Amino acid sequence: MIVNMSEKATEEQIAHVVERIREAGYQPHLTRGTERTIVAAVGSGGRRHEIEALSAAPGVEAVVPIAQPFKLVSRQMKPERSVIDVAGARIGGDAVVVIAGPCSVESHEQVLTTAIAVKKAGASMLRGGAYKPRTSPYDFQGLGIEALKILREVREQTGLPVVTEVMSTEDVDVICEHADMLQVGARNMQNFALLRRLAMIDKPVLLKRGPSATVKEWLLAAEYLLSGGNSRVVLCERGIKTFETETRNTMDLAAVALVRELSHLPVIADPSHGTGKQSLIAAVSRAAVAIGADGLIVEVHPCPERALSDGPQSLDFAGFEKVMRGLCEPLRQLAPSTPEGFALGAQA
Ligand code: PEP
Ligand code: MN
Repeated sequence: MIVNMSEKATEEQIAHVVERIREAGYQPHLTRGTERTIVAAVGSGGRRHEIEALSAAPGVEAVVPIAQPFKLVSRQMKPERSVIDVAGARIGGDAVVVIAGPCSVESHEQVLTTAIAVKKAGASMLRGGAYKPRTSPYDFQGLGIEALKILREVREQTGLPVVTEVMSTEDVDVICEHADMLQVGARNMQNFALLRRLAMIDKPVLLKRGPSATVKEWLLAAEYLLSGGNSRVVLCERGIKTFETETRNTMDLAAVALVRELSHLPVIADPSHGTGKQSLIAAVSRAAVAIGADGLIVEVHPCPERALSDGPQSLDFAGFEKVMRGLCEPLRQLAPSTPEGFALGAQA
């Protein structure tokens, strides 16, 4: 249930509603919009009728049920879009934020040269994996703490905020010391212990969609973060599993638009994992921006053929620059609706 306060509600009236929600056995969550304040009553096992009765309390405009199972991430709870600040990069604002960098951190030189190149081409954040979720235990697993140090140094050298993946609750503290944003990878989207832990940190989280997760499950995973106290969440569509075998995953671009309808959280797109193919990154990036993505995360490597992970989907510097240029080109023009010289209604 959400309690919409009236525009003229006083602080005392808001505090009273918060108190009554608590008394009724729910957790109150306050959102202050530009015009009005909304107080959500979340949790289960509370006395619903006591919340419904708040429609008679002073300063309350309406008490409405939340239609969706996710609440704090919903647009009903916060109609205006959220902007998440990641050490100066603002995701969810007017400008598209491009995050670029290698799949895995391999060496200081590799990350530094990549960071310089992607920054020059217009990227505003750096990515790089230190702890890698690999399908096979025999594949490169990431350099761990050594990689975190490299990312921190390169961040200091270039000024680019850094996002890196966290796979385990054990690594949360050390990653927080080195990075500006923590990525929950697709395979961990429903690692609830990890989500609960990340709800308690003072860093933004990039929450990737699980390869087999519905949009509802994805938003409920985000709800774990918000309900636990971390509202700095950016969603990332990275492709889902379908029967198609020509691409690594199927990029669900409609989900980007859908999520923007259902949630106030920013959503970015990952065309690298979404397609698995260098040649498709430019087209899918343009399409993602056209459909409303607030940003992109793209894998770039100085020499993709030598990459220790995800080489086939990584762009080299020239390829990335071309993708960035492509993002600035206008969409195609529309064909005229009637042939030239043909006036509607004109009879020969
Ligand atoms: C990655 O970003 O390199 C990665 C492993 O992504 P995902 O979790 O989307 O597969
Ligand atoms: Mn990767």
